[in-house]
Amino acid sequence: MSVAFDSWLSERITTIKERDLYRELRVMNSGPKPMVDMNGRKKLIFSSNNYLGLASDQRLIDAARSTVKEFGIGSSGSRLTTGNSCWHEKLEERIASFKQTEASLLFSNGYLANIGVLSSLPTSGDIILSDELNHASIIDGCRLSKARTLLYKHVDLQDLENKLKESKPFTRRFIVTDGVFSMDGTIAPLDQIIALAKVYDAYVIVDDAHGTGILGKKGRGISEYFGVKPDVMIGTLSKAVGTEGGFVAGSSLLKEFLINQARTFIFQTAIPPSVCAASFEAINIIEEESRRREALMEKVMLIRNRLLALGFHVKGNKTPIIPVILGEAKKAVSVANKLQEHDIFAPAIRPPTVKEGESRIRLTVTAEHSNDDIDRLIKAFEMIRNEPEVMK
Ligand code: PMP
Repeated sequence: MSVAFDSWLSERITTIKERDLYRELRVMNSGPKPMVDMNGRKKLIFSSNNYLGLASDQRLIDAARSTVKEFGIGSSGSRLTTGNSCWHEKLEERIASFKQTEASLLFSNGYLANIGVLSSLPTSGDIILSDELNHASIIDGCRLSKARTLLYKHVDLQDLENKLKESKPFTRRFIVTDGVFSMDGTIAPLDQIIALAKVYDAYVIVDDAHGTGILGKKGRGISEYFGVKPDVMIGTLSKAVGTEGGFVAGSSLLKEFLINQARTFIFQTAIPPSVCAASFEAINIIEEESRRREALMEKVMLIRNRLLALGFHVKGNKTPIIPVILGEAKKAVSVANKLQEHDIFAPAIRPPTVKEGESRIRLTVTAEHSNDDIDRLIKAFEMIRNEPEVMK
């Protein structure tokens, strides 16, 4: 690398540091559990997306192991070339029956599923109305789309309706929303969004990354929770399902269209068959073991109520995402550092991931956290609250 290139990069990094937005990697030396070896120290983790604890479930491990023996490690091709195993087909059928749709299509991850849908489905002459707090992958998908994108205020139905009225001249209107918002833990009012979409002749696309496995009696996600059917349902296997991969669930025609038009489907290597087999097992467990979900929700409410009782500003609905709003990025970083001194890991979330002045600690709870783990977390927050230097 040239000296000029190096000094330009280090100037940019210095600016990031000056704005308290510097990020660095941490190394986990043990598997996905509440207590992990992080950078050589035992840490209690409150930031995992492994909500139901399935990522280390023996049944998933066994399913993956036996499939690896038969199918090897990598899928060795895109789905349209040589990467399409019988396990991909089986899993797609299973996801469709789980989501109660005609069909589903696997992608390598949720990020690429969002990009694939949004860059191919809405086209020139169309408009996408997108919630202002939608996930980065939705934002990037909208950027790649030939349609216009207009943001509406977070879960604000009045603003959405005004924008739908303004959007009449466009050929087609698409509304895109997270099901459960990843940084705020809010549940989108999907029933009302779909009702509005009917009135204004719009299509609804939902990214249910955080609702899948969590919302609804059987864990089918936001559509089960509200008893509604959006036109396009996107999801990930990387959170409650405990594995890796993304999917789109909907009609058979939607699947046929995406196979032909979604570039992140066409040009990506398929996920390994062993991951499909483990995901298949995970979905069976999600449907059958509703007790896991109920126990998780009890923990969610315990933490939310205890933090509120300590006077913290806690956002969101009843989901495993618990954002503790602190304000400036510096304060959120100080609290995260203090939690680290208590050997607890929960990240500070800062702009541009969240708005200026809304920096936070984003806690997530899993079915594997014990009551002792929760006590430790709350005691740490209580001690931090009493430190004026941190809380100023
Ligand atoms: N959508 C949302 C709302 C998410 O939170 C995430 C992951 N952070 C994704 C999509 C991307 O999913 P994946 O990790 O499978 O790429």
